[in-house]
Amino acid sequence: MFIYTPDSPSEVLLSSRRALFLDRDGVINRDTDYLHKIEHFAFVDGIFDLCRAAAGLDYRIIVVTNQSGIGRGYYTEADFLKVTEWMMREFAEHEIEISGVYACPHLIDAVLERYRRDCPARKPNPGMLLRARDDFQLDLSECIFIGDQSRDMEAGRRAGIGTLVRLNAANSMPAENSDPAITVVADLYEAREKLFPDAGRH
Ligand SMILES: [Mg+2]
Ligand SMILES: [Zn+2]
Repeated sequence: MFIYTPDSPSEVLLSSRRALFLDRDGVINRDTDYLHKIEHFAFVDGIFDLCRAAAGLDYRIIVVTNQSGIGRGYYTEADFLKVTEWMMREFAEHEIEISGVYACPHLIDAVLERYRRDCPARKPNPGMLLRARDDFQLDLSECIFIGDQSRDMEAGRRAGIGTLVRLNAANSMPAENSDPAITVVADLYEAREKLFPDAGRH
């Protein structure tokens, strides 16, 4: 697992025990399959608004992302780091601090041998969420996880995340509407309305 944190994290959130976890592809950026170039990175509508509302309620923002494209040899760790640093700067320009980006490059049948493993961090396994819990002393029952795939929801469920939100992105499989533990939203504006109805508008 790779973990990226800001060079100079603010101390405002030092005592906060809750976080808004975000999957990356399909939630932060439009999912274009193994995205690894800044010029292909398009933010999903409403992401900054959502994150500001969460931050205003003392939620840390933490990204948890499977990046098997590294293990598959489609792009390198350096490529991923470059996109990640750029993404964190973009959030910073919108006055949003990302407390951490957790990424798993592994795959059980990865083409590159050094990434070939059944990794406990790769979603639907909960490893990245549990590591973030330990790093920031989070109470996961007070945390929120927004993802666009069933493996995100599965990872969240196994970690004991209190609020699971499935974003019904256009290119993802239809959500499990029947599962009452999962809140299904059509877009991030709806997520903001449902999760943070009292947050001030920006
Ligand atoms: Mg996704
Ligand atoms: Zn891993």
